[in-house]
Amino acid sequence: MTTDFTGSFTQQEPIPPAAIAAATAVMQHGRLHRYNTAGDEVAETVLLEQEFAAATGAQYCLAVASGGYAMTTALRACGVGHGDKVLTNAFTLAPVPGAIAAVGAVPVFVGTTADLVIDFDDLQAKIGQARVLLLSHMRGHICDMARLMAICDAAGVTVIEDCAHTMGATWDGIASGRWGRFGCYSTQTYKHINSGEGGLLVSDDAQAMARAIMLSGSYMLYHTHRAAPPPEIFADIRYDTPNISGRMDNLRAAILRPQLADLPAQAARWNARYAVLQDGLADTPGLYLPQRDRREGFVASSFQFLLLDWTPEAITEVLARCAARGVELKWFGRSDPVGFTSRYDSWRYAPSTPMPATDRVLAGIIDMRLPLTFTLDDCALIARIIRAEVSAVFQAQK
Ligand SMILES: *Cc1c(COP(=O)(O)O)cnc(C)c1O
Repeated sequence: MTTDFTGSFTQQEPIPPAAIAAATAVMQHGRLHRYNTAGDEVAETVLLEQEFAAATGAQYCLAVASGGYAMTTALRACGVGHGDKVLTNAFTLAPVPGAIAAVGAVPVFVGTTADLVIDFDDLQAKIGQARVLLLSHMRGHICDMARLMAICDAAGVTVIEDCAHTMGATWDGIASGRWGRFGCYSTQTYKHINSGEGGLLVSDDAQAMARAIMLSGSYMLYHTHRAAPPPEIFADIRYDTPNISGRMDNLRAAILRPQLADLPAQAARWNARYAVLQDGLADTPGLYLPQRDRREGFVASSFQFLLLDWTPEAITEVLARCAARGVELKWFGRSDPVGFTSRYDSWRYAPSTPMPATDRVLAGIIDMRLPLTFTLDDCALIARIIRAEVSAVFQAQK
């Protein structure tokens, strides 16, 4: 019996047959652009927007080209522009500060706790510096949203949610993305539904969503949208808003609709894998598992643990030993950015001052993807490998 893992951490499941059939139908009729419809046909993109609005409980939804585009559009629709400051998480990925920089604004980084949610004390201390918070639910960890909204509402700060890792998730029964003015989602291959690239934006704010629709490049065809504010809302907005094209096409929407219908079932499969890892790693000496509130209805498409206060050499040793056994772990604390992982101080275009408490957490975060191509047995094996290698290095350190 082998004790090494041989699966791939980057291999997602194939596109389901219903999605392939829907995509083939779009390619056969050739009307891929969302505004290219025949007769009374309703575009796949329009249907996806209606279904996603229903799934999240939002009034309005807009399908766009990427999660990053969803965020820049939300920022613009909230009036963020050149030189404005925008609060955001220090623990996030490059597209988040990148979206802020894209509109000419400047990120103000807010720290993270060891449970991988935004640090409320640091947020409170910095809240006066900006009018908008782009809150990243990084790796699917959701903070106490009622408390967050209370802090932001009291300070007059608008919240935009980056839900790239929380599509299908909830806080206290309310969908992630429905607490702030906008929720921004990604349908990129590594997220919860897969169209290669793509994004979705939800809101209940009619004016802001009308601006977002015009921004996305709807020309004067906004009336063909169904999960959109009524045409009269566009009266002035259609003249005042620039077209910054970033629409989603019907091919991607066709691929996504069957996957969206499957999302609750897929979320349960992710969480079953997470539970096996969680059990397998519980009480491992030297290893901290982020705690989750029972109000958090998460979708665990990835797994994190912390090696808090370990030396870089010891962490490097754990990673090397796990890698030798087929378990690919990412380390946020690495001094130089690699692959998808980087730290706030590696985004040199954005000014930052050191945050010692956050640096301590970031230095210890170990991250891994949890693709649904892993079986529950795979997850148990991965947990045994990590447990053994962390324990061996931890013992040797003493
Ligand atoms: C992937 C990702 C995004 C943006 O998604 P794209 O569709 O790749 O632009 C935003 N935030 C986080 C945290 C992400 O991981």
